[in-house]
Amino acid sequence: MINKKMLKEQKAELNEKAIISKTKEIYDLFKKVKKLPEKSKRKDIVEQLKQFEFQLQELWNFERDIKKHRYWYLIPHCRCPKMDNDDCFGINRRIINLECPWHGKSSEE
Ligand SMILES: [Zn+2]
Repeated sequence: MINKKMLKEQKAELNEKAIISKTKEIYDLFKKVKKLPEKSKRKDIVEQLKQFEFQLQELWNFERDIKKHRYWYLIPHCRCPKMDNDDCFGINRRIINLECPWHGKSSEE
C-alpha cells in the first residue's frame, strides 16, 4: 500500500505509520462525505482536505506544494475531470467542472 522505495528516498521511514494514518483520515473523510446530500457540500470540507494534503506532503518530507495535490478531485461526487487533472500534477493549473458540487459555481455561494 505504501511506496517503500519512495519512503526510503525521502528518508521518511520514521513517518510511515503517520503517513498511513493520515491517508486513512483522507479516506475516512471521503466515506463521510459520500453520504452527504449534494446541497451540503461545504467549503470547510474542501479546506480540511487541502490541509490533509499539506500534512501528508510534510510527512513525506516533500515541500508543501498545492500544485502537487491529488486528492482534491478524488473526493466523492466531484465532477472535475480526473485524467486532465492528473496531467496537471506539478503545474499551477486546475481544471474545474462548473457543475461540480465541491469546486464548481454553486460552491462559491
Ligand atoms: Zn470538483
